[in-house]
Amino acid sequence: MIKRNEMGNDNFLDSRSCAFAKCGKTFQPARSNQNYCCHGHQVMANNARAKSVRDGIKNVEQQLKENRAVLAELWMANRFTTTYDELISKGYDLGFHTHILRHEKDNQYLYFVYDFGFKLNPDKTYQILHKDELQSNDAR
Ligand SMILES: [Zn+2]
Repeated sequence: MIKRNEMGNDNFLDSRSCAFAKCGKTFQPARSNQNYCCHGHQVMANNARAKSVRDGIKNVEQQLKENRAVLAELWMANRFTTTYDELISKGYDLGFHTHILRHEKDNQYLYFVYDFGFKLNPDKTYQILHKDELQSNDAR
């Protein structure tokens, strides 16, 4: 017996599972590149993928904003040195920075969140920096 697909030709495709994670139903594809059992599940899978990307970016952006706000608050209060414990207690997450510069003079790394940053002092305190105070040839 010859199996025929919906289009009536003899190139019968093996059944497969719907690629939409919440479905997973086995279906008979009409085309070789059909990964979803129906158009609705294709749309829902694409929307879920886009939301996952948006949420991932939003969470990182939120933490970067929080980190910058902690450094800016201390800077505005003329507090140019702080401790690990104070940074953490104010909500700073040391895993989130926008860029890292290397200080030429003392070969130290400067961790920046947008325009504010810090460097670790030898006594384990953190010196808060603003980009405007760096000489252009100081760090790269
Ligand atoms: Zn499905």
